Amino acid sequence: MPDSMHVETDVLVIGSGGAGMYAAIEAARAGASVLLADRSLIGRGGATVMAQMTVAVALGAETPDHWSHHLADTIRAGRGLTDARLARLLCEEGPACIGEMDTWGVGWARRDGHITQAMAPGHDRPRCAYVDFLNTGPAVSKTLRTVVNRTTGIRKAGDLMIVDLVRHDGEVSGAVALHLASGAPVTIAAKATIVATGGLTRLYRRNSASANMGGDGYALALRAGAPLVDMEFVQFFPIGHLAPRLIGMDPIMWDPFRYKLGGRLLNAAREEFTARYGAPEDGKYVVTRDLATYAIIKEVEAGRGSPHGGAYLSFEHCSAQALHQAFGPVIDRLAANDIDLTKMPVEVAPIAHYHMGGAAANVRMETEVPGLLVAGEAVGGANGANRLSGNAITEALVFGRRAGRSAAERARGARQAFHAADTRQALDLLGADGAPCDLNTTAMIQTLQATMADDVGPFRTRAKLARALASIDDLEAALGGRPAGSAGPFDMRRIEWLDLRNMLLVARVVATAALRRAESRGAHQREDFPGMLPEWQVNQTVRMRDGRITLASVPVLAEVAAQ
Ligand SMILES: Cc1cc2nc3c(=O)[nH]c(=O)nc-3n(C[C@H](O)[C@H](O)[C@H](O)COP(=O)(O)OP(=O)(O)OC[C@H]3O[C@@H](n4cnc5c(N)ncnc54)[C@H](O)[C@@H]3O)c2cc1C
Repeated sequence: MPDSMHVETDVLVIGSGGAGMYAAIEAARAGASVLLADRSLIGRGGATVMAQMTVAVALGAETPDHWSHHLADTIRAGRGLTDARLARLLCEEGPACIGEMDTWGVGWARRDGHITQAMAPGHDRPRCAYVDFLNTGPAVSKTLRTVVNRTTGIRKAGDLMIVDLVRHDGEVSGAVALHLASGAPVTIAAKATIVATGGLTRLYRRNSASANMGGDGYALALRAGAPLVDMEFVQFFPIGHLAPRLIGMDPIMWDPFRYKLGGRLLNAAREEFTARYGAPEDGKYVVTRDLATYAIIKEVEAGRGSPHGGAYLSFEHCSAQALHQAFGPVIDRLAANDIDLTKMPVEVAPIAHYHMGGAAANVRMETEVPGLLVAGEAVGGANGANRLSGNAITEALVFGRRAGRSAAERARGARQAFHAADTRQALDLLGADGAPCDLNTTAMIQTLQATMADDVGPFRTRAKLARALASIDDLEAALGGRPAGSAGPFDMRRIEWLDLRNMLLVARVVATAALRRAESRGAHQREDFPGMLPEWQVNQTVRMRDGRITLASVPVLAEVAAQ
């Protein structure tokens, strides 16, 4: 095994998506030394760089607006479970972050001199800013990367996979990591640690995720003693691309097409059908994600789906000129994929997209565990049982900025609590010799993804969830306690073993929380408990004690207190 390395910093930021980069910038601006670590390249892994659509923010640029209207929509979409403190923070501070991104040159689309704001489902008025053409996430990432690069006090470490957080006397005091490019273990001493590792949709067979989104941060937080909340609520994006084959483009790119051009969702008989499920569209795009997902799946089950098992999405009512005007070079990329939207519909179906659950945090983004903060999609609660479109990037920026500020404040008065002895268990795991075995970690990930898609998807039953938990038990038993592979550079068997360790824990948490919630609400639909029940208007928290997970119901934090 290569020699281990040791690094010291005031603030460790784990993950360099929108949340992590904003956190690093803010902590450094507040005077802290920052280590920004990512298992991918800095600012190029995770969801932020992939997002192509919109950012919800009450700028009032297009029509009069106020953060309180945005908050009211966010709370309504959350189906009674939204943590109002976090949602208020998201909505109230969104305009400042989006404004700061504007001064940094992100390039929000403009009309008549003001930032353009589009209508999106669940919002009561045009509120969603974007960068043309389908370039929002790449532009946000590029802008933040540029600011990170010019901010003094930030050290960047790509290819650094955080394997476990380190604790001393109940505080998080740093982390143990695997340097993927060399295979060397790395210990990190930090006065404050921010988990900004994004979501978990890699757990599912059909997902919009990058390979790094297997829920690492949830597992890290849980093992470090922090509670998670709302873990049963996985958002499925209703109109993920299904067919024909689409190369080099985001599978969820059809939403902005619908915002701008009013695409029609049709069944096999080419009829609009969402009205059948209580959500009429009339050519406008107003139906929320959970209802659209329900409508498409039910239509397919009724034998009225498109050939590949989804629905048709048609823009055949649009002229070639209108399409080009709205999406310019994107239409050329579609042509290269042999897709001419004036002549043919595409097929779409729900795809795992975002996670509403995450680590429980206060408005300073602190978890219950001293020294451990969270930001972005890693945080649970702000979106309740269902997220509004555009809220996730705003959440990443706002929560990232807040976490960076709080972490710097903590670091200012703190000493390093790191002790090498606390790293022994994690280092021991990385030092495992990887004795020869026939464990096929790639096949195991595929089995887990199939289990989650088939049994812990948008529609759940007690029987399906019990079957999923049994399959997770089997996979965990097969995985064993020591990593496969060797300690060399980019050893995929070792990396996948570590991925599976986290993915199986997080999958178990999602399935267990889904099994316990005996009702249907937002993104969690139980076919055996079809209605929303007043007694279930509670959040579920998940904790890990002695290697076992325990769940509890807690009252919803519905008070919209000033921050
Ligand atoms: C295809 C797609 C399109 C989307 N479109 C939109 C949209 O238009 N509007 C919107 O509001 N939301 C959208 N979302 C959701 C939104 O992009 C995300 O919720 C948000 O960007 C999350 O930001 P984040 O910084 O929390 O995490 P991410 O951007 O996912 O970054 C997490 C980072 O953590 C790193 N990481 C993970 N584990 C580890 C580890 N163990 N060690 C070190 N590093 C680690 C990853 O490599 C990654 O770089 C979209 C999501 C996807 C997948």
